[in-house]
This record gives sequence, structure tokens and C-alpha cells, in this order.
Amino acid sequence: MELQGRVLSVASECVPLVKTGGLADVAGALPAALAPLGWDMRVLMPAYRSLRPRIADWPEVWREEGLWGGAGIVRQGVVEGVTVLALDAPHLFDREGGPYGGPHGDWWDNPQRFAALSWVAARIAREGLADWKPDVLHAHDWQAGLAPAYLAFGGAGGVGTVITIHNIAFQGWAPSTLLGELRLPRSEFHPGALEYYGGLSMLKAGLVTADRVTTVSPHYAEELMRPEFGMGLQGVIAARAAEGAVSGILNGVDTAAWSPETGPHPFSARSMKGKAEARAALCDEFGLGVPGPLAILVSRLTDQKGIDILPAAVPDFIAGGGGLLVLGSGDPALEAAMQALVTRFPGRVAVRIGYDEALSRRMFAGGDAVLVPSRFEPCGLTQMYGLRFGTLPVVSAVGGLSDTVIDASPAALAAGVATGVVFHPVDALGLGQALRRLLALHADRTVWTALQKNAMRQPLGWETSAAAYAALYAGLRG
Ligand code: ADP
Repeated sequence: MELQGRVLSVASECVPLVKTGGLADVAGALPAALAPLGWDMRVLMPAYRSLRPRIADWPEVWREEGLWGGAGIVRQGVVEGVTVLALDAPHLFDREGGPYGGPHGDWWDNPQRFAALSWVAARIAREGLADWKPDVLHAHDWQAGLAPAYLAFGGAGGVGTVITIHNIAFQGWAPSTLLGELRLPRSEFHPGALEYYGGLSMLKAGLVTADRVTTVSPHYAEELMRPEFGMGLQGVIAARAAEGAVSGILNGVDTAAWSPETGPHPFSARSMKGKAEARAALCDEFGLGVPGPLAILVSRLTDQKGIDILPAAVPDFIAGGGGLLVLGSGDPALEAAMQALVTRFPGRVAVRIGYDEALSRRMFAGGDAVLVPSRFEPCGLTQMYGLRFGTLPVVSAVGGLSDTVIDASPAALAAGVATGVVFHPVDALGLGQALRRLLALHADRTVWTALQKNAMRQPLGWETSAAAYAALYAGLRG
């Protein structure tokens, strides 16, 4: 494929190097998905402590001596096919702890740390490396939000800019006293640009200055213009949308890594015997005896995920023959609420507190349904894993959940396109009703099997998303 252009992707995390959320999956998957379309993408990210042994012998391709209190050196290497530009600035990133904080909470200098990442991104975009000059800069979330801003304020040098919102709950707020230190012009400190509730938001800076704004599903893009989802930035998004600058591009999933055809009990839409074996093994593992549908939940246990509505919704489901297996960790009160269900319904409900990817795979393979009762969900992955494994998603009608699951309404069933159960509002009554419908669908083997086959046939790979990003970049190329 002929080269269409070069893209500098700027992200605070990237699979397989550092991951705390879906942003890392997107940053890590896009380069390989875009390559066949002629787009050459490199990923600029901080060299956290965990990366340092890996990058030690990578060649230096760029440097700035005075980068917020020390030298910043960009080293280039290739990790599982992805060309990574690691920003080696030990005074900012060589710390014990996570990307954003240590044992005592967020790092106090996060605005400076990610301003540095964005500053370097903007300079590389504008000036280019010795052998590589991007046509487009693609910033992800607030951590890269200042990159389009630095280009807009300091001259973009013909580089187009895109910012993607993975979760608008994180906005990168900083006090206005930092304006000068963050190398931002005071003249831009007004409500139409950097100012945000008296301070500045690094996400807002990106949203107002980037040529294009995207988010990770079409439905979330629309929701973001409403106060209940926009979290203060709804006006900014609506203004950019009015210019035609906002779009939603659904994330893909790694369909090879998440395939029912691998694993100890392989199965496919044509032969589902392995799924029954996987279910039996899973029930054995947790001492479950469930005559009806076995619902699974694999999630952070937080308010966002709607976990608090489960305890009131589940008893009728259990009475109707259902069972529940939960894997997750998070809010201690929600963990305790899940444990209480085990005491109340022994043999029908089991809970594992913790993070365990191998177990999550056994659950997606062996479960009958996956619950995703989120209050908001920019894209969501577990409903897509559920579709892959014929584990029917029961989801709230928000964000990417709405874009990926087709409700088993009579019309959708008749048309043969239904793939799960979609409910609204996000409360115990809504979920309870969805679970009653699940019991009825499960009781009809013909309907259930048809739903599973539809679910497993959904195209969920990165190809469609990559084509949409490629079209976006092509529109920005100078
Ligand atoms: P979010 O990024 O908001 O947490 P997503 O659905 O986009 O939600 O992604 C969550 C990812 O983390 C999925 O891959 C899911 O399977 C995984 N996950 C969440 N909790 C656990 C857990 N306790 N154990 C294993 N995997 C988990």
C-alpha cells in the first residue's frame, strides 16, 4: 500500500507496555490496524520506571535540555510491531507507582508531567525527527490535551490535529497560576479557550484547539453534548459539533486474542458443544448449580458501572432459575454488597474480588449472559467480548453499549438481527425487567440459539475503526 501519511499518536499509556484502561488498548492497536491502509503511526509516551530497562539501549532521536527541570530525551524502539517514541525524562517519570500517582494519590506535578509530554509532541510534530515528519498529531485524553494547544498557539507547521476523548470524567484541571509554567499564553486565558471554572483544563485546551474531536463511540459523542454526560464540557463539545468537528468512532477489539476458537473448550457459531463444556467447568470451579441462565459480570466495581443496582434486581432472577458470577474490585461497599449476595444465594451466586484476566476468559467462554448496567460507558469492552463468545450482553442504553448491542425486541427478533437485551433507565427496576426478559429468551432454545449466532457473527475487529480514522486523517493532511 502506498504511503498515505504519517501520524504521531500521543498517549499516556499503550498496550503492551503500560495499561490502566481502554485508552492503552486503542493506542496499542491502532498502528497495526492503520498500517495496511497506508498510514505510518508512531506512539509517543512517557518512559515510566517500568519501561526504563526496555528502552535503555534504544537510540536517541530527539532531545530538549530544559524540559521542566531536566533533560527530556526521546528514544525510539519497536515493541510488538509498534514504533514507540519513549520520552525519557527521569525527573518526571522515573517513579515508584502508577502512571498518574503513587501510594498517596495523584502526583502533585501531573500538570507539568503531561505538559512536558504534550510539549515534546508538539515540537516533534512541528519540526519533525531527522527522518520522519508527521502530517497529523493524534492526542489521546487530557494527558495529551496541550499538544494541539501548543501547535495552535505556537504555529502548527501544517500539521493537522485530532483529540480523542476516552472518558470525559478525567479533565486535567490545573490552577491558573500555572499558566506561565505550563508555557501557555496568558492571552488565551478566557472562556473561549483555556479558562475552565477559574482554572484551566488540559482536556478543554485540546478540545477547543484541535482540528477535529473524536470519541470512542457515536452514541457517546451525542451524549457528551448533554449536561448529565458532558460533566461540564457539554457546551464546548456542542460548539465544536456545530462546526462539524466532532465524531464518534467505535473501538474495535482484538478478535484473535479474544476468540472462542482458542482455549481449553473451543467453540464457534457452528458448533457450540465447547461452550456447554466451558459452562460446566466454570460452575464446578465455583460450586454453582444454575438451572437457568448464568449471568457474569467482569468489571471495576464503581458507581459508573451501576453495580449498586444489582442487589435489588438479582433476587427475582435467581428465583426464576438464574445465577450470577462476579469478578471485579473497587469500591469496598460494592465489594461487600456483592459478597452479601453470595451469603444470601449460596450455590447460585459466586464472587471473586480481584483482577484476573485468565478467569475473565473462562467466564466469557462459560457464561450465558454478561451484565453491563453502566450509568455511562464511552465504548465498553465486556459487551463486545460477550458477543464474541455468544454470552449475550444485557446492557444499559448508554454510550458504546447502545452502539454495539441490538435489543431482542419482537421486531429485531423477527428481523433476525437481535444480539442481546438493552434496558433503560439504569435502576433496579430497569435491570430487573431486563433480567426477566433474559429468563424468557433463555427458556426458548430456538430463540436463544439464534441470538447467540447473531452475536457471534458481529464484526468487532479494528478494520472498521481504522478505516474511519484513516478517512479522518486524510481530511486533515496538509
Ligand atoms: P473500563 O475501561 O471503564 O474499565 P471497559 O469495558 O472499556 O471498561 O474495559 C474494561 C476491561 O478490563 C475489559 O477488558 C475487562 O474484561 C477488564 N476487566 C475489568 N475488571 C476486571 C477484572 N476484575 N479482572 C479481569 N479483567 C477485568
